[in-house]
Amino acid sequence: MVGIGVPLRKLTHWNLELRRAIRTREGLERKISLSQSEARFFEHFQPEEQPVAEGQPEVGSKRFQIVPLAIPRYYLDLVGPDPMDPIRLQCVPREEEWESGSMETADPLADRTYSPVARLVHRYRDRALLLVTDQCAMNCRFCFRRHFVGKGQGPIRPSELDHVIQYLKEHPEVKELLLSGGDPLTLSDEKLFAIVDTIRFSRPGIVLRVSSRLPVVLPSRITRRFAYQMRTRQPLWFVLHVNHPRELTQEADQALKRLADAGVPLLSQTVLLKGVNDDVEVLEELFRCLTARRVKPYYLFQMDLAQGTSHFRVPLKRGMSLMRELKSRLSALSVPTYALDLPGGGGKVSLFDPPTMLEGEREWIFRTPEGREYRYPKE
Ligand SMILES: *Cc1c(COP(=O)(O)O)cnc(C)c1O
Repeated sequence: MVGIGVPLRKLTHWNLELRRAIRTREGLERKISLSQSEARFFEHFQPEEQPVAEGQPEVGSKRFQIVPLAIPRYYLDLVGPDPMDPIRLQCVPREEEWESGSMETADPLADRTYSPVARLVHRYRDRALLLVTDQCAMNCRFCFRRHFVGKGQGPIRPSELDHVIQYLKEHPEVKELLLSGGDPLTLSDEKLFAIVDTIRFSRPGIVLRVSSRLPVVLPSRITRRFAYQMRTRQPLWFVLHVNHPRELTQEADQALKRLADAGVPLLSQTVLLKGVNDDVEVLEELFRCLTARRVKPYYLFQMDLAQGTSHFRVPLKRGMSLMRELKSRLSALSVPTYALDLPGGGGKVSLFDPPTMLEGEREWIFRTPEGREYRYPKE
């Protein structure tokens, strides 16, 4: 019995961790003592008992989409005592989440406008995005998909997947499909790879990407078995959401090593966040660490205009000057594209300011920020 019991327990280890994530104020207070702002966040949660004061946001109304609390114990153990600790800021809610900044909405990218069938977002001709589940292991306090994440739709249903498959068959121009959510890795291997295989079977050539934060918020999820399943379903890229070098612990390293050793191509995406990583040293270290772990930094995102996230927003000008500095320090391999997903569904645009380029008669003239000129022939 022992021989059978031990590996089985190992297999479900991450799943127990997922279920044991901290989801209540009480659970959180058993681990950390809340700052004033953190405590005030929770005070807004009893709207029935307290009449809403004049000028306060209407708690519980449709105007506000609050992301539920969810922090794996593993990730909470990384949190420092300082209320401004960069790991803490990402997972512990603050009072500011009840403030709506100008132009902020619950669906800043107009996902719903670009959704031809449930769960599918088709904004660019050749690639689409599938919302595999609304669950995450850790709910990021700056989440931009807050109209969807943790709102109870759960994993994609078979009938929904049928409609998605039908759509993909009718739209052969879709060459890449991103599996996102929520976090697809909150599903069991069986469920996740059944979805992957169903898609592959009906669209054999399609390139898949799976986006996840689990290697850094619940690294035990990346079992050898999972890495092997990824290996056998190439081309299937893994896109890691990571925001701070302290998230790259030994456990996370091991998870990434498993994937890289299995031959899974690895990319990362990072959100530029005030107080977390809006610092050239922090970003430099993050991108260097990623490259050393065989993860290519792919995107650095300017924050989307999601409701209740203004306290995380870094001005565009500051982002661009950080990027200029990073470009001078790092190889092209280690520098991601700094991008903004234009509000209202305009799509992603690169924000790196190219050198001034003048069109001469026979040459292009590049003028650097320092005022030097370089020439390149037009033909
Ligand atoms: C970001 C995104 C993609 C992929 O864009 P890339 O620039 O190829 O990474 C596809 N669909 C949607 C809806 C997206 O938001």
